[in-house]
Amino acid sequence: AIVSATTVLIIACPCALGLATPMSVMVGIGKAAEAGVLIRNGEALQTASKITTVILDKTGTITLGTPKVTDVKLANNFTETEVLQLVASLESLSEHPLALAIVESARALRIQLSAAHDFNAIPGLGVEANVDGRQLLFGNEKLMLERGIDHTDYIESAQDLAIEAKTPLYFAIDNKFAAIIAVADPIKDDSVAAIKRLQKNGIRVVMLTGDNRDTAKAVAKKVGINEFFAEVLPQQKSLKIQEFQQRNEIVGMTGDGINDAPALATADVGIAMGTGTDIAIESADIVLIRGSLHGIA
Ligand code: ADP
Ligand code: MG
Repeated sequence: AIVSATTVLIIACPCALGLATPMSVMVGIGKAAEAGVLIRNGEALQTASKITTVILDKTGTITLGTPKVTDVKLANNFTETEVLQLVASLESLSEHPLALAIVESARALRIQLSAAHDFNAIPGLGVEANVDGRQLLFGNEKLMLERGIDHTDYIESAQDLAIEAKTPLYFAIDNKFAAIIAVADPIKDDSVAAIKRLQKNGIRVVMLTGDNRDTAKAVAKKVGINEFFAEVLPQQKSLKIQEFQQRNEIVGMTGDGINDAPALATADVGIAMGTGTDIAIESADIVLIRGSLHGIA
């Protein structure tokens, strides 16, 4: 049967290339799969070989995406239990990694959560809801500025936290500033080595994040990236990719979140973390099963 099949193939494909190209693509995809890199099609593999710029999302891509609460700084006579109880009740309705950190910290202290009403997630800024008759607002500094919450006395301590690569989040109860809660997300063990490997191969590595500028700067420095864009709203991420493409860069975008999905689809090659959200995986051409950046290199 093998002799007959081979004979038919050789007669049907007089041009050796007709067999060689799909075969090498197939073998390549198979080899990649062994290394935990799933490639959706041959075109993705071939475009990936031409990538000149790799854009990395920060949270969940360079970092583990499992942040933990590290500091709570209280304001206006609010107590820590009161603040954590309210903020965790609010975040229990959000699917953001930051929200999980907050809920987890309240659970560790065995704090009972209340039901949240009128919950609203504000993309790239934070969340709001009503809990126990109190109007809660939680998110980044931009959100406080937008809603006119006075937090001027705490800007400096937020900056100190950000310099340590922590993300400072602002909490307001009934339009009154109540606390800064800092959250830190550890960098994956192999991110630094993988980024160095890419750079050594002459690939331009850029970081893109919705997080605050000082935190982004601290993380970029730790992993050896000197080009980064911070405070990028979800809808702006894909525009950033287009800017690079207009400068004739072949862009490989790497991300894990819902907010990365449009950018993954826009890039020449979208690379999703297998540990990320389903929508990111659906929008990507390549999936890194183990979530390690070495998969790109
Ligand atoms: P990224 O995944 O790149 O960090 P996001 O757009 O998801 O970006 O978030 C950007 C910023 O918006 C966060 O760093 C945080 O300050 C704020 N934010 C978003 N969602 C929440 C939330 N559920 N709770 C608190 N802050 C949030
Ligand atoms: Mg992310």
